[in-house]
Amino acid sequence: MLTAAKTLSGLMGLCVGDALGVPVEFTSRAERVKSPVTRMLGYGTWNQPPGTWSDDSSLSFCLAESLCRGYSLEAIANSFWRWYKEAYWTPRGDVFDIGQTTHTALMRLKQGVVPHQAGGKVENSNGNGSLMRILPMAYCHRSLTLGELLARVHDVSAITHAHVRSQMACGIYISIAVSLLEGADPQSAYLQGLQDIQTQTIYSVREFLLEKPHFGRVFSGEIAKLPVEEINSGGYVIDTLESSLWCLLNSSSYSEAVLKAINLGGDTDTTAAVTGGLAGIYYGVENIPRQWINQIARKQDIIYLAERFGRAVYS
Ligand SMILES: [Mg+2]
Repeated sequence: MLTAAKTLSGLMGLCVGDALGVPVEFTSRAERVKSPVTRMLGYGTWNQPPGTWSDDSSLSFCLAESLCRGYSLEAIANSFWRWYKEAYWTPRGDVFDIGQTTHTALMRLKQGVVPHQAGGKVENSNGNGSLMRILPMAYCHRSLTLGELLARVHDVSAITHAHVRSQMACGIYISIAVSLLEGADPQSAYLQGLQDIQTQTIYSVREFLLEKPHFGRVFSGEIAKLPVEEINSGGYVIDTLESSLWCLLNSSSYSEAVLKAINLGGDTDTTAAVTGGLAGIYYGVENIPRQWINQIARKQDIIYLAERFGRAVYS
């Protein structure tokens, strides 16, 4: 059961963070400072009961489910389409939130565009919509070299988010997640993940090098030292990568990390989902507050998915 616990830690960590953030999505930091979230709430922004997770978790579960049957970009893209069209892997049978770039890409897939060509490629299509659902790829680390894994991560990002900046953000996040899965503590995993990725040939091609300045604060190795006023928590992929690392590195428990993410305000569910995936892996599912897990919609289905996924990637 060790492998199932490992996959459940990341998947549940992501999902609980998402669900904690859903009721206060789009609220300002000033509101959150005045009235911080400290427990699982309901209703609010999307008028959903407590424990309702959003697109971040749905698309992550679609990805994990697809990976249970091996890696196929077409199958992953098809599962995303089924989420949108058939409410596949939704918490309560409907899709109540979808990002614009993801929506455009799904419409392109519907018209017959291949997954490699479906995602947004322009600079303003760098929302956090692929970063929020990329975590399951980290669990493929045992059977692939980091270079092979990153090539797949970039492709999976590109189904909806094909700009190099989004692909790099996903690659950096996964490199750090892999270090955590291999047993590193957050600070070591952050530095190791950055070091590992910079040895990869793909990160030295021109289009990647041109993007590198956008990741300057991440690559400094000192993102944790920035004051909270310099941490943005909107829907831009760089903001989400930076803020999730900042929250993870400045916390000493799962709950502290995800609540810190939510109380930055803005894109609360995604910042907390991206933070929660890493924090879940590091602290383990046994250290995610039990009463939060018990409130999660389709908890048992998520546990079964984690078991199947664990068997698929670790056997
Ligand atoms: Mg969401």
